[in-house]
Amino acid sequence: MMPGGPASPLAQLVARCGTEVIVTDPTALEATAVDHRRLYRGKPLALALPRSTAEVSQLLALCNALRIGVVPQGGNTGYCGAATPDDSGAQLVLSLRRMRAVRRVDALNDSMVVEAGCVLAEVQQAAATAGRFFPLSLGSEGSCQIGGNLSTNAGGVNVLRYGMTRELALGLEVVLADGRVLSSLDALRKDNTGYDLRNLFIGAEGTLGVITAAALRLFPMPRAVATAFVAVPTVTAAVQLLADLRAASGDRVSSFELVPQLALDLVLQHIPGSRAPLGGGSPWYVLCELTSARAEDPLAAVLESALGTALEAGLATDAVLAQGERERREFWQLRENIPEGQRRDGASLKHDVSLPIDRLAAFTERASAWVAAEVPEARLVAYGHVGDGNLHFNLNQAPGLPAGALAARETAVKRAVHDLVREHGGSFSAEHGIGRLKVEELQRYASPVELDLMRAIKRAFDPNGIMNPGKVLPRA
Ligand SMILES: Cc1cc2nc3c(=O)[nH]c(=O)nc-3n(C[C@H](O)[C@H](O)[C@H](O)COP(=O)(O)OP(=O)(O)OC[C@H]3O[C@@H](n4cnc5c(N)ncnc54)[C@H](O)[C@@H]3O)c2cc1C
Repeated sequence: MMPGGPASPLAQLVARCGTEVIVTDPTALEATAVDHRRLYRGKPLALALPRSTAEVSQLLALCNALRIGVVPQGGNTGYCGAATPDDSGAQLVLSLRRMRAVRRVDALNDSMVVEAGCVLAEVQQAAATAGRFFPLSLGSEGSCQIGGNLSTNAGGVNVLRYGMTRELALGLEVVLADGRVLSSLDALRKDNTGYDLRNLFIGAEGTLGVITAAALRLFPMPRAVATAFVAVPTVTAAVQLLADLRAASGDRVSSFELVPQLALDLVLQHIPGSRAPLGGGSPWYVLCELTSARAEDPLAAVLESALGTALEAGLATDAVLAQGERERREFWQLRENIPEGQRRDGASLKHDVSLPIDRLAAFTERASAWVAAEVPEARLVAYGHVGDGNLHFNLNQAPGLPAGALAARETAVKRAVHDLVREHGGSFSAEHGIGRLKVEELQRYASPVELDLMRAIKRAFDPNGIMNPGKVLPRA
């Protein structure tokens, strides 16, 4: 600080909030500076670790007055660089990791209220302890936070039955950019009182305010489960199999995940302890699961019979049912470890796209043929949540090429894939959001009306542009 001059923004933060809350230790800052995929490296001004909603409110009011950019960071598992500060050294990273109380679980109302810093697995566990089920489930559930899940409107493997995070939220507590607190934690199922403000924060990626707590929807605990790993000849067959299974099981399908042979190979190669459930050699596999809240539901028999019919009809070429919980976990680990297997294999280009389910096969065929013909630097690893029409249309760099060979094609590949997605009536971001990575894509594919309204919403909630600047929308 200059003698007699104004204190620096950081000095003012420390003076008002204390060193308990404003952390400047370089090791702590370094851990927040890089995103999960290592696409972005930022330079945080400091790390804020508030302990209560009141402290978040005080912090944001101060940042708003001082025009300090605030970057909320949950478990930092997001794929779009949305939780990484820029390299100006002027943005404050805000983590709610100290706010992880389960405020209440109300089994009769099928709801719970948790603080936003709770890790997803802790939320699932707290629900289970009360005999209820919180269905959001992702490969990152051991480290992502419910605040991050809400802010990205995360999907995961149970969307087919239970919906995305938005459908699981009954209310939010949010601190606005100016420090005011907006709260709707009464866990009401019906509340048609004007505009639905809470839904604006879900999927907003921290650009409109900081979610500090949420009222979540709970469900009866699944008591019966049947899981199968199935070899299918084509994506068309997989889509038909899903429709047939839903009909045969009385809509008990809770997950239906598509896995190509190459994705399975990457997991088997890079994740120790992985084991192929079937002989191999099929272009595609499906991991499907039926669940029911009735323990006596004969799901294994239903699944076995439906798969028998599918084998006869040529929709499947081989199948195995998990014999017990251990084998079921093994099947799931194969699916959940695909991102990690891909990461360990090396550089990749990722596209998180969604299509109307009936156009999934046509898109996959066209886009795969395009990659085979035009991108010799890549191996295609297209897997995803077929039941939701969501494909992770990813490309891994082919072996033996120099570093950066595939990355050099990124812009052209992204443009071609996303243009094809649009041609097939789909979305260029199904569940991972926009963050920093897809700001240009949103500008390209959203309509002028949508962009106008988004900018107006941003101005209304955050007139000084302090909340996660440059994410979702370009800086004003
Ligand atoms: C192995 C693996 C598997 C994955 N599988 C899936 C999947 O199946 N489906 C899926 O949708 N995603 C998946 N993801 C992506 C990621 O886990 C999700 O996007 C998750 O919801 C991010 O949560 P997070 O706490 O890590 O948030 P972060 O990455 O820390 O942040 C994400 C965004 O939320 C904002 N944010 C965080 N906390 C708050 C808050 N309290 N208030 C306001 N804004 C906040 C951040 O500013 C940022 O914009 C996966 C990731 C990995 C590594």
